Amino acid sequence: MCESFAVPGKKSSLNARKFLNLGRSKLKKLKYFEALENLNKSLCYAEEGSKEMIEAYANRSEVYFMIKEYEKCLENINLAIKCGCDASVNEVLKLREAKCNELLKDDNSQVFNPWSFFKLSYPPHEKLPYVANCIELKQHELFGRYLVTTRNLTPGDIIAIEEPFFKIVHTSSTHLRCSNCLKANKLDLIPSRLTSSGMFCSEQCQTMATGNFHNVEVDLRSIEFAQKILLESLNICDQNVDKLKALIEDPKQSSQTVFDFDWSDKENGKFKMHGLLAFNSLQLGPITDDLDYIETHPVLDYFEYEHDREIAKAYLIRIARILSVNCYSLDWWSPKREDDDNLLFSSNKMKIGSAMLPFGSLFNHSCAPSIDRMIVDNKFVFIVRRSVCKGEQLFISYGPSFIREPNDFRQMNLKAHFDFSCSCEACVANFPIAFSHPLSREVLTIKDGPITSNDEWKWKEELKKNYQAIEGNHTKFPSLSLWKIMDRNLYLLAAIARNEPFVF
Ligand SMILES: [Zn+2]
Ligand SMILES: [Zn+2]
Repeated sequence: MCESFAVPGKKSSLNARKFLNLGRSKLKKLKYFEALENLNKSLCYAEEGSKEMIEAYANRSEVYFMIKEYEKCLENINLAIKCGCDASVNEVLKLREAKCNELLKDDNSQVFNPWSFFKLSYPPHEKLPYVANCIELKQHELFGRYLVTTRNLTPGDIIAIEEPFFKIVHTSSTHLRCSNCLKANKLDLIPSRLTSSGMFCSEQCQTMATGNFHNVEVDLRSIEFAQKILLESLNICDQNVDKLKALIEDPKQSSQTVFDFDWSDKENGKFKMHGLLAFNSLQLGPITDDLDYIETHPVLDYFEYEHDREIAKAYLIRIARILSVNCYSLDWWSPKREDDDNLLFSSNKMKIGSAMLPFGSLFNHSCAPSIDRMIVDNKFVFIVRRSVCKGEQLFISYGPSFIREPNDFRQMNLKAHFDFSCSCEACVANFPIAFSHPLSREVLTIKDGPITSNDEWKWKEELKKNYQAIEGNHTKFPSLSLWKIMDRNLYLLAAIARNEPFVF
């Protein structure tokens, strides 16, 4: 069956069957992650209550049984039964259900929860509960807003855990994440009822997405991030285009950052409005020819009146400019694939979505950053990479790193993408790059080692040792061997964050 058969957005029992068979063959080979991937694709294409849907849920229950996720196994058995499976399948499932319940009774082993590790290292900020209380926003006449710490920070400190305000799952990854909240839920997702390219972690997320953007999305086949933000913003403004215009154009309102609002009161009811304002106050990227496509974008046809269309168009351009310099990529290290013989850890890096972080966007760039970011489920965790003294500015990297790219290349890259000349310590002092150093090969090729989240004590020990080495030698920076340890830590943290019990 050729791949081109797939009509984007449409349910198709042929495709559902194709991916079901693929999923089964992966399951037979004990490739659990790939089995779930294909079974999810099958679910996306399957008609509600069809034979394919029943079989996909039944097979998914088997995968979860094999990887000892008994609760998830039971959920999938229920989903298959709810779809109305026939007696023979029912019998197999009932047997599995009984085994599951039996095993759950005896099973005292705790499923490792990455959030038991990824926690703020300091008390939360008074108004921003997901940020440590030592983080402050300051203003500089030359480089604008910047984040500082009011206490000394040591490697491994977690200073913020932010959930994206606006987010989108890329079309190639819709079977891996909830389209509404980006949670992976160990791939235990339910398919969209409206389209073949969306899954959700819960019925609640499906309902929220349907009311928000999903209906239009189905019509437009695939929606881009800027359009999704436009539709969600309108929703926040009660579909009132003039209200949206007044908000974004009010100079007082549009200069407010996340630090100007109180996020501690969950009952507040204004979170969405505040998030929209904080997003709107972010720095604008340059106006480029790339923005011309907005003039004729099909999403504008949804606005009946010329007046509304013009406002929507202007806001779309603003969103696109904000995204061009503030958008976070949701990268993820997927388990090694069967047909992938590349041993490099980085080869499994996938871009599965994009996210807007009203707090995270306030970090400035350095080619030798002090802060790393790690994606844990649907949140971004900001972790201290190397010691930062009280009063110093905090930096992440927007991409370029002194270890990989020469100074002039970094300058060119940052100018082209972010429209600034970098004056970070690495650029000013011309730190040596790894290519001219004997350690270069090691630095650049971190092997996919045997670390899994099940080896809890091992990675905890190693991280501790590494953090001590970085802290103890911080005066020797820039040191390539220290940089290598910092990258190794990122690898260890990714293994903890992934927390997948898949055998691969
Ligand atoms: Zn969700
Ligand atoms: Zn730089």
